[in-house]
Parts: sequence; C-alpha cells; structure tokens
Amino acid sequence: MPTETFEFQVEARQLLQMMIHSIYSNKDVFLRELVSNSSDALDKLRLEALRDDTLGADVSDLHIAIEADSQARTLTVRDNGIGMSRDEVVQLIGTIANSGTAKFLRELKEAEDSAATEGLIGQFGVGFYSSFMVADEVTLLTRRAGESQGTRWTSTGEGTYTVEAVDEAPQGTSIVLRLKPEDSEDQLHDYTSPWKIKEIVKRYSDFITWPIRMAPARPAAQDGTGADAAAESPAEPETLNSMKALWARSRDEVTDAEYHELYKHISHDWTDPLETIRLQAEGTFEYQALLFIPAHAPQDLFMQGYKRGVQLYVKRVFIMDDCEALMPQYLRFVKGVVDAQDLSLNVSREILQQDRQIQLMHRRLAKKVLSTIKDMMSAHPERYATLWREFGRVLKEGLLGDFENRDAILGVSSFATTHDKDAPTTLAQYVERMKDGQEHIFYLTGESRQAVENSPHMEAFQAKGIEVLLLTDPVDEVWVDAVPEFDGKQLRSVAKGEVDLDTEQEKEQAGTEREQQQQEYAGLLSWMTDQLSENVKEVRLSSRLTVSPACIVSDANDVTPALENIYRAMGQ
Ligand code: ADP
Ligand code: MG
Repeated sequence: MPTETFEFQVEARQLLQMMIHSIYSNKDVFLRELVSNSSDALDKLRLEALRDDTLGADVSDLHIAIEADSQARTLTVRDNGIGMSRDEVVQLIGTIANSGTAKFLRELKEAEDSAATEGLIGQFGVGFYSSFMVADEVTLLTRRAGESQGTRWTSTGEGTYTVEAVDEAPQGTSIVLRLKPEDSEDQLHDYTSPWKIKEIVKRYSDFITWPIRMAPARPAAQDGTGADAAAESPAEPETLNSMKALWARSRDEVTDAEYHELYKHISHDWTDPLETIRLQAEGTFEYQALLFIPAHAPQDLFMQGYKRGVQLYVKRVFIMDDCEALMPQYLRFVKGVVDAQDLSLNVSREILQQDRQIQLMHRRLAKKVLSTIKDMMSAHPERYATLWREFGRVLKEGLLGDFENRDAILGVSSFATTHDKDAPTTLAQYVERMKDGQEHIFYLTGESRQAVENSPHMEAFQAKGIEVLLLTDPVDEVWVDAVPEFDGKQLRSVAKGEVDLDTEQEKEQAGTEREQQQQEYAGLLSWMTDQLSENVKEVRLSSRLTVSPACIVSDANDVTPALENIYRAMGQ
C-alpha cells in the first residue's frame, strides 16, 4: 500500500498547535506520557497472551527501552507490547476520543490569562501529543501482536500525518522523536543527556512495573577513534526504575510525590490528587488497595458511558481497567488500584459482579472512602470544600441506593443555606442551630439559587429567622423523598403541606384571630375553590406569607413542580 496522507481531526489539530507552541511550561512530562503508554501496551499484551494461547507473541522479555542519539538529536522510546494495527493507528493517534475535549478547548479559548490557561492545560492530559512539545517530527513504527504487517506513522504536528505499511517491523511500538533544535543549547531541556533521562524516569515513572532500560550512550565518533571506543565498551543497558508496585510497599517507604505519579499514570489526569487512601486487608481474602480522590471532576462525569471503577490486579498482574464491581456508582470519581491475592487471572466482569468476596471488598472500599472524607472534614476543611464542590452532586446519588451507608453519606454532605449565603452547612451544624421548639429540618428545592431564595414559601421562615436549606441540584429533588430523617429530625419541605412555625403562645392568639378570619373569608374561599377547581384542590388562608398575596402549596405527599419536570424529562 502506498503512503497515505491524512488530516488530523479539528480538535486534534488545535491541541497539537498548543503543544508545538509550548504553552505548557513543564516539557519533561512528554517522557512520562510515552512511558505510560508503553506500560499500558505491555499490560495489554500480557493479558491477551494469557487469554489467547494462539496469539503467538513473544512475552518472555517485556520491557521499555529508551535510546538517545546526541549526534542525530533523536530520542526513541520502544516497547514490545501489544502494538497497533493500521486502523488503530489512524483511530487512536489521529483523533481525540475523549468526549470532554471539545468543551475543554472552548474553555481554553475563553481563558483570560496565561495562569488560567496553564491551570486548564494542567487538568487535561494530552498524552501522546505531548511529544510535540519537544519534537518537530515524530515517527511511530508499530506492529500489533498476532499480525504480520507493521505501520509507520509520521507527522510534524502541522495539520497532517502520513501512514504507510511496513513489511519488517518488530512487534510492539517504537516512537522516534526528532528533537527541536532550539533545545539543544539548553541543558535543562537536553533530552539526549543520559543524566536527564534517568532523572525524568526516576521522578515520574519509577513505579512502572516493567523494566525501563536505557541503552548505554553511544560515544561520539572522533576522527575514526569512535569505532574503537564502541568496541571496547559493550555496556549492558541499565534499568532505570525500581519497578516496585507502590501498593505493595510499606507506607513510610513511599513519598507523596510517588503516589501522585501513580495516580497520574492510571487516571490520565495531569494534576495531583486531593487525597490518597491506602487499605491493607489481611486474612482469608487478602488484598491491597490504593485509592485516589481527584482534585477536580472530569468533564464527562455525568455523561453516559463514563468509565468508572478502579484498576484490578491479581498478584501484581494487571487484569482490567474500570472495574466497576469494586466501586459504587456514586463513588465513580474515585481512581486507584486494587490488587487481590486469591482471584483467578481469568476472572471476567460477569464473574466479578456475582462474586461474594468482591461484594465484600466493594463494601469495605466504599466505607473506607466515606470515612476518609469524614476525617478530611475536620482535618483539612479546605480540601473537603474542594471535594464537595467537585463531587457533592455525585455523592448525593448514594442517598438513593446505598441504605447501609446513608447516614455516613448524610454525615459528609453539605448544603447551601439561608444561615450563611457563602458557606454551605452540614446537617449536624444545622441541627445545632435549630431554634427552641423547632422540630424539623427545613429545606426548599428548586432550579436555581435565585429561584429558591426569592420563593414566596421562604417568607414566613425569613420573618421568623428559621434556617432553610437551599437545594438546587437535580438529584436533591429525589433524595429528599428517600431520606426520612437526620439525627431524629424529619426533613420537611417549606413548600409542602402545613408548616407550623408558631410557638404555643402565638398559636393561642393566632387561633382566635384565625377563626374570625376564617368566618369572614369563608364565602370568598369557597368561591375561589370553585373557580380554580381545575387547577387546585383547595384555597385556604395561610400564615406562611408576609409579603406576597398568595402562593401555591403542594400536599405533603405530592411531587414538587421541579420533580414533575424531572419525571417528564425522563419520559414518565
Ligand atoms: P491515552 O493514553 O490517555 O489513551 P494517548 O494520547 O497517550 O492517550 O494515547 C492514545 C492511544 O494510543 C492509547 O490509548 C493507545 O490505545 C494508543 N497507544 C499510544 N501509545 C501506544 C503504544 N506504545 N503501544 C500501543 N498503543 C499505544
Ligand atoms: Mg497515554
């Protein structure tokens, strides 16, 4: 097949332009990205070879090799992993599959200054494309395990790339970077320096469980003496990383920075996690877990098809990504690794869903995450505030399904409140502030903060100085009906049924007054009830308003207007 030229997809082109013009200040991370991809490719090959013994791939010495050529100014990263077919190269390298990318690029355009830009870039992993931060041409040669023909992909990152078939290609992938000339003068960015390469690998990729080898530096040829020098030193390649699985090492042996790099590898996030959680389960069913709470929500967290769950390993062997059986839906933002001792390497998703041990792990992990959040509330309130801002909406989904952990979830939840416009409150704090004689926790749901704050239902509560929770997430409509109480106090909507705010004394006074009014207005009320009979059940006098002349109230058991909208949107 002849060489074919393709155009990058629009988003890919935009990202590449950003890489070429180096708007990201730390260029070293390109090597982390390439090593991370190679490591994934080796994981995939080992697994495929395990499941398919007709694959015919050599898995005896799986590794990553880095070679620098300071004369030609090229850097090569090679692996003998799964490789890619021609179609996969075009699919995976020419387009950006991540559905959040378009949104990200829009936000990037609107970013006001360079700090904002850098912040956004930092949240977004650009993976393979980061090669173009340091290279003005990238050549990728790859052959998929089990296939005979290889593929060469080449691009300068400027709009197009070429693809051609290659008869002879080693299995796996090698990526050759032609380094930008402007970096050659600059020691900080000399990516052909063995010292520099070693330092980057140590910093970002030490935990990678495959050997990352560096070929010995080729001595520069000096007037014919170079050949001799090369013959004298047939040095062995050096393994740069310690290859120790972080979750299997004792806690005080591992630095936060190392944990963070593992997080970036498995999450494809470029920012540090908010929290690292370790769990060591011993006994009949032994496993280790290393979990992370990200510092920001991914763009597609609420999209269909969002891949949740942690990575599953069995005795250090990678088994699968996105193992949803280990993490409840409402903790879908949690990333990490679970390594179990006593599972079969052939375990499938279907088996996992039914396995009792897995269900126990699931429960234990969920509890551990919730208790970590609980601790965070007192130990690191600012971190907790970030967590709640980013993931509160997701966590509240757990109030609907996870009965066992409902109190724990309520305990770590925060809500906007009339008590303090700017600071959300926990239910415990609300209960502490409840007025003498106040029996219930009051809330109002609605579409926006403004809508609930200005609702006529709020008037009586404002007048009496009674705190009301302002619930404006769509999920709030649903969980408030599922959760009967907190700390023995019922949750009550201020928009439903009779609300009784008066003290006994006030009631006595009001009672006689009300009776008089009731008689006075009886005619009007029954006339109005008649006139409006198609739309309302009853018209009655109310003490809940102080300013507005009238408001619509639901029966305690009716669905709220906002919930009606949700049900309608769901087609019910
Ligand atoms: P990500 O790793 O987040 O998926 P990348 O841009 O880093 O994004 O890589 C895109 C895809 O290209 C990978 O998901 C993988 O399928 C493929 N790929 C990249 N490098 C390799 C490699 N060395 N071997 C096999 N496949 C690779
Ligand atoms: Mg990658």
